[in-house]
Amino acid sequence: MAVVTDPSQVCLGDRPLIVCDIDEVVLEFLSPLTAFLRSHDYDLLPRSFKLHGNIVSRRDGSEMGKEQFSAFLEMFFENQNLWQTPANRAAETLHALSDDADIIFLTAMPPRHHTIRRNLLDRFGLSFDMIASEEQKGPIVAALHDRRDHPVAFIDDIQRNLLSVAEHVPDCLLINMMASADFKPFAPPPVGSILTASDWDHAGDLMRRHFSAALSNA
Ligand SMILES: [Mg+2]
Repeated sequence: MAVVTDPSQVCLGDRPLIVCDIDEVVLEFLSPLTAFLRSHDYDLLPRSFKLHGNIVSRRDGSEMGKEQFSAFLEMFFENQNLWQTPANRAAETLHALSDDADIIFLTAMPPRHHTIRRNLLDRFGLSFDMIASEEQKGPIVAALHDRRDHPVAFIDDIQRNLLSVAEHVPDCLLINMMASADFKPFAPPPVGSILTASDWDHAGDLMRRHFSAALSNA
């Protein structure tokens, strides 16, 4: 399926919409990044909710500098097909949900890595449309949803993205979820109407409940 950069290129059915982040939600990110760093004699230490400052040399414990970190992240995304795998139950849950809802992936990864990510998702049968954009997520979800009467849900691991969608699509179900058990305890507590899903089964239940409540109120 396609990689698009403009929400107007997406064709939705007459049914609920699920917009879903990729890194740490659909694909594991922090665990494979840690394995990748270890293969280069670095480690990612779960000691706060950030990457920079928590990557240290396994030889002398020194912290990786910002420029070097950017270079490593670039290398990781270039080779993501060798490292990243779906989060537990992501594929099964999304396929089950796709019987009754449209699913769109929304990733903030730099556009130069679109093709490799598209191929990786397709390899795991995750062939839903993907929007790759470094713009704020709220306006993108608003453009997709376009104030339709159908319910809409958004899943992401980063509170900033959830708050952006909350601002632009007030009726959207907001679900915070992250794959990494090591970093989860450091995530900021959810604010406002954001719900936290412990895993994909839980997220699936929250969405099904939201959709059936919206349909019975219609
Ligand atoms: Mg993410």
